[in-house]
Amino acid sequence: MFLMKNWAKNLNFYPQNIYAPKSEQEIQEIVHHHLQEKKSIRMRGSAHSWTELISSDEGFIHLDDMQGLISVDQEKKIVKAHAGTKLKRFGEEAFNHKLTLPNQGDVNHQSLAGALSTGTHGTGVNLQSMANQIHGINLINGMGDILSLDQTKDPELMNALSVSLGSAGLITQVSLKMTEAYKLKVESFPEDMTLALKEAKKRIQQNRHFEMFYFPVGQWSLVKLMNQTHEEASPRSRLKKMSEMVLDNWLFEGMNILASKSKKYVEIDQLVRRFVGHDSFIDWSHRAFPTDRTVRFMEMEYNLPIDKFEEVFLEIQRCIEKNKFQTLFPIEIRFVKGDELWLSPAYQRDSVYFAIHTYTSENYRPYFEEIQKIFVRHAGRPHWGKWHSLTEKELAPLYPRWDDFKKIRRELDPDGIWLNSYLKTLFPS
Ligand SMILES: Cc1cc2nc3c(=O)[nH]c(=O)nc-3n(C[C@H](O)[C@H](O)[C@H](O)COP(=O)(O)OP(=O)(O)OC[C@H]3O[C@@H](n4cnc5c(N)ncnc54)[C@H](O)[C@@H]3O)c2cc1C
Repeated sequence: MFLMKNWAKNLNFYPQNIYAPKSEQEIQEIVHHHLQEKKSIRMRGSAHSWTELISSDEGFIHLDDMQGLISVDQEKKIVKAHAGTKLKRFGEEAFNHKLTLPNQGDVNHQSLAGALSTGTHGTGVNLQSMANQIHGINLINGMGDILSLDQTKDPELMNALSVSLGSAGLITQVSLKMTEAYKLKVESFPEDMTLALKEAKKRIQQNRHFEMFYFPVGQWSLVKLMNQTHEEASPRSRLKKMSEMVLDNWLFEGMNILASKSKKYVEIDQLVRRFVGHDSFIDWSHRAFPTDRTVRFMEMEYNLPIDKFEEVFLEIQRCIEKNKFQTLFPIEIRFVKGDELWLSPAYQRDSVYFAIHTYTSENYRPYFEEIQKIFVRHAGRPHWGKWHSLTEKELAPLYPRWDDFKKIRRELDPDGIWLNSYLKTLFPS
């Protein structure tokens, strides 16, 4: 038995059998075998989630040997790919056909299926989370059947399954609605949080992508704006990338270690701020969105209705002050357009996302639990892949189609072969 861990190393588990199939037929055989043995299977993409979604002590599948594009429909701008394809590879291969995704998150190490299945999102009030780009999927259900579904033939099923945590089956292929490749001008600069908050409403509307990183110890913000441009690309040079790696990751990691040992958060936060200046570059979108994140951290992220933005932010600020929580890690604030995907945290509401982080060795629980109370009071919905402690009792009322989803899930997987013990608590039959 092998020890498996996720990216943040907060999950440890020992699957009995690990599979790296090369075809859908192989996956069908694995499912039939597990059905006979009455054993469950879980799948991972890149293990970049914090919640117990991928844990398994029975079967465990990854699709690292099924990668890349399968076909491109230039006229409809639809790209079909193996669902385990990592976003980085997908971005480059689609770019070879002058196509790209309209929006992405801030790293590109995830797999397509993993990112889509948890509602992974970027920022931009007029742009939806990535799963909204799904046109169709191939899904291997709990009986081992391959279902080919798409938005035209099966709109209800697709709204149910596009964000479904791998709980109803394994996605082997995915077709995505793409857009013509475009360049982004990325600008970032530090600002006092009071001013950043005052400017936020305007910036949300005036920029294609707008986000803020709020540093609670020194009450300052790193503002990031990204807008489409036809200007020449001026990508970050290798030297610049290297210095970013040192400053944003290695030095930042060193400062975190120092801060958590010495408790001199205020002084070290002031030092961090001194390293942050005005930065700007232009690159093709699939290269501009992702940043390097080598420092491991814990994260909780909640979706709230966008009109709660200021009220919730001020409550978080007061909560941190009152409890004297200290971490150098910022709170990331992003904006996403609402959608119709039943289990999407942005279901039927334009949203603001607050992401709370700590360095891995810090005690995140008291901090996350206090802030979570604020989110819960305001009908917050947690990011499926990030730490939270809500159970079905709290989650079901947040999702009007929860019971409809459970019914579909049961029909697709009557023996619960795709459920681990955590998912059984979320979707008991
Ligand atoms: C450094 C870092 C940065 C991040 N940045 C962002 C961000 O900017 N925005 C954001 O929204 N999130 C972000 N996340 C969260 C991340 O995008 C999600 O947790 C995502 O699900 C991880 O993708 P993965 O491929 O690693 O999937 P995993 O974590 O491996 O799996 C996620 C879920 O998908 C299921 N799954 C995987 N493969 C399949 C398949 N083939 N068929 C069906 N189900 C499958 C798994 O079983 C699991 O339930 C970040 C995470 C990290 C660690």
